[in-house]
Amino acid sequence: MKIIDAHIHFSRIQSFKHTADFISGVDYSSAGLEKEYAENGVIAGIAMGLREVESGGFPDGRAPNPMGLDLEDEIPGFVCTCPGINPVRLDSDNRKKELENIEKEISKPRVVGIKIYAGYYHYDLCHPVYTPVYRLAEEYGLPVAIHSGATYSPRGLLRLSHPLNVDELAVKFRNNVFVICHMGDPWIMDTAAVIYKNPNVYADISGLIVADPAGVEESAGNRLFMDHIARGLVYETNYDRFLFGTDWPLVRVKPYIDFVRRLIPEEHHEKVFYENALRVYSRLRNFVDCEKRM
Ligand SMILES: [Zn+2]
Repeated sequence: MKIIDAHIHFSRIQSFKHTADFISGVDYSSAGLEKEYAENGVIAGIAMGLREVESGGFPDGRAPNPMGLDLEDEIPGFVCTCPGINPVRLDSDNRKKELENIEKEISKPRVVGIKIYAGYYHYDLCHPVYTPVYRLAEEYGLPVAIHSGATYSPRGLLRLSHPLNVDELAVKFRNNVFVICHMGDPWIMDTAAVIYKNPNVYADISGLIVADPAGVEESAGNRLFMDHIARGLVYETNYDRFLFGTDWPLVRVKPYIDFVRRLIPEEHHEKVFYENALRVYSRLRNFVDCEKRM
């Protein structure tokens, strides 16, 4: 089975490096990613752009717009991107230039979406600072991925990363497509309600476990944990709306694939692991085709 990993990172972020070294046991490098993908039939990854100006600074208000991938000088050929938005710098006198930089970046073929870090940055999703970003996303036909649920930093604000906030956004910006990242965990049922109601909202299944392979196995074998996630899938019932992703380097690829295989009924694997990503992040289609990796 061909797989698209709809949520990874490829940025020099201290907490990611620390997690790779001490929690997930990931080789956080292009060579490490290529090896894991090759061993597991993953043909492409979508890296969510992120930058910190100061080591350990994420969420860093000084990071330039848009936030890209800076783990290595060269981005692997099988990785495409959703550049990240730093609302702090958009909310300044330099707004025009920042927006120009965002538009210049998203014109590039390797860009398949835009990423917003709700909760990490203390801006409501419907704050006017984001409006021109949604307009650009609509104009360029790009989905907007939104961090939702728990934050991987104590500096985040859960009120702002709650998936219910995406409901109002989806209603106000009906011509945009939104992806709730991490199924909004732990608010799985809220996410299910939002995507059930709003046809322009999807969810990715990434980042539900941050652990080494033994830890992933342990969670996947825990009935209460699995039921907690499955309840949202059962409520929504439509597997067209869920995208597989890992949140690498927070977890290794193989154990996470095995975990999601257990979570999703087999007849929906093709959609969740592959087809839905191609439909939602539609520019991926050209990218995957032109890379001849299909
Ligand atoms: Zn992530």
